[in-house]
Amino acid sequence: MSQQSTTYDAIPRRPYLASMSPSKIFELQKAHFRAHPNPSIAHRKSRLKALRSALLQQEDALKEALWKDFSKPPYEVELTEFLTTLIELDHALRHLSDWMKPQRKRTPVVLIGTRTEVRCYPKGLSLIMAPWNYAVLLTLGPIIHATAAGCPFVIKPSEYTSHAAALLKDMVEDIYPPEEGAVFLGGADIATELLAMPFTHVHFTGSARVGQIVMTAAAKHLASVTLELGGKSPTYIDPSADLESAAKGVCFGKFSNAGQTCIAPDYLLVHRDVAEAFKRALMAEIQRAYIPGTGDADLTSIISSDHLARQQDLIRDARDHGAEVVVGGGSDNTTRRVEATVILEPPEECRVMQEEIFGPILPFLVVDGIEDAIERIHRRQKPLSTYVYAKSDAVMDRFSESVRTGAVCKNTTMLQFVQPFGPFGGEGNSGIGRSHGEAGFKAFSNEQVVLKRRWGSWIVRLVQPPYSRRTSWIGKAFRRFT
Ligand code: NAD
Repeated sequence: MSQQSTTYDAIPRRPYLASMSPSKIFELQKAHFRAHPNPSIAHRKSRLKALRSALLQQEDALKEALWKDFSKPPYEVELTEFLTTLIELDHALRHLSDWMKPQRKRTPVVLIGTRTEVRCYPKGLSLIMAPWNYAVLLTLGPIIHATAAGCPFVIKPSEYTSHAAALLKDMVEDIYPPEEGAVFLGGADIATELLAMPFTHVHFTGSARVGQIVMTAAAKHLASVTLELGGKSPTYIDPSADLESAAKGVCFGKFSNAGQTCIAPDYLLVHRDVAEAFKRALMAEIQRAYIPGTGDADLTSIISSDHLARQQDLIRDARDHGAEVVVGGGSDNTTRRVEATVILEPPEECRVMQEEIFGPILPFLVVDGIEDAIERIHRRQKPLSTYVYAKSDAVMDRFSESVRTGAVCKNTTMLQFVQPFGPFGGEGNSGIGRSHGEAGFKAFSNEQVVLKRRWGSWIVRLVQPPYSRRTSWIGKAFRRFT
């Protein structure tokens, strides 16, 4: 049986009605969704294709905007914003028809004579809140999944990347009429106003602190939530690791985007046997590619003066606690750049060991082995990602089974983000729910069980009132087939 779907001629409209309030948009979307509760696959794909061509058309403008926002290197933008977004977009376009197909389910003996399938329908009006650190990817990513699932959406990009957010607003509003998709710019005030509205689903990417605010607001309407948060992602270096390659992987994960990445290695757990050798490899890699001045165009700035001051405080606090800064430690208030910084053995009570760093500062802890490393990971909240550099899979497996983390990567960092076949997300403090690929589609979908009796209504009548010993006998007979 095929799913019923609505087709309609939604013509993208410009100029967008800028004067519309969030509540007016909400009412518009609500009425539209009631009239079109299940947009056709052709309609969803046409929006995704329009998004794809707009993204490519705006590539240079978005690179310029991100340079203005926090001097993000254009080459890095290509890799970490455009390639990543296009991977999600093309994956959705390629697999949407499979995701939308009703899934036939097997029939247990007690349900003999029936047939069951699970159908995915759009959940309904969705609120998306995005952070600034990957302003394009993390704004468009949830839009891709809301569109694939057929949900109208309202999105609020981060106020920190204002140039990129303004362009994204124009882009989205060129493609989606307001009853399908709308963008509101601003900070906590507008976010609070939007959170008070009875959206069906809220997709939030950001800090755990604001994640709690989002979940509290969503609870008022019993809205479902996807919370993509952050945390402290550890990296273990085993004596069997290829140290040079490990240093390159760690530096790329930690220092690209100036460490302002949710899945950046937050701190190192280096086996004592290779601590000195790995320190040398790390310093050589930093000298080669991550020293400001030699290649400023390769280093992103810290997003704001307040965020910069926080990074400076973290370094000062570690020094005050007697930790040694073995490389870096400096910063420039004009360019808002912080040097790639490695801090040796910061004590547990240091802020760099208590908070998500979210900057180019890398604590280097020496451990006595795998179990010691795992024990130290368990002292903190569950990490979003865990990285392991080692030769054998057994080392990776030990971390995989012991640490409740969204992803474990062996001999690489960050690549889990661009694996659209795998769900992405955290646990507790690092997140709730999953996104990317089919998981992203499902997050915005209501999975509905459709069970129909094809024959054998008399079987059910046998166990309906008036009850008798026969009812009990039939019930017990069915127990044998559970
Ligand atoms: P943030 O939590 O400060 O802001 C995220 C969004 O929430 C923004 O749109 C912001 O305007 C809004 N907001 C801020 N204060 C609010 C309030 N009081 N009430 C309602 N809304 C409010 O996060 P950020 O600084 O933009 O991003 C950094 C954090 O995001 C880090 O913790 C990082 O790990 C996390 N992150 C997670 C992922 C992921 O996929 N898991 C990706 C990127 C960033």
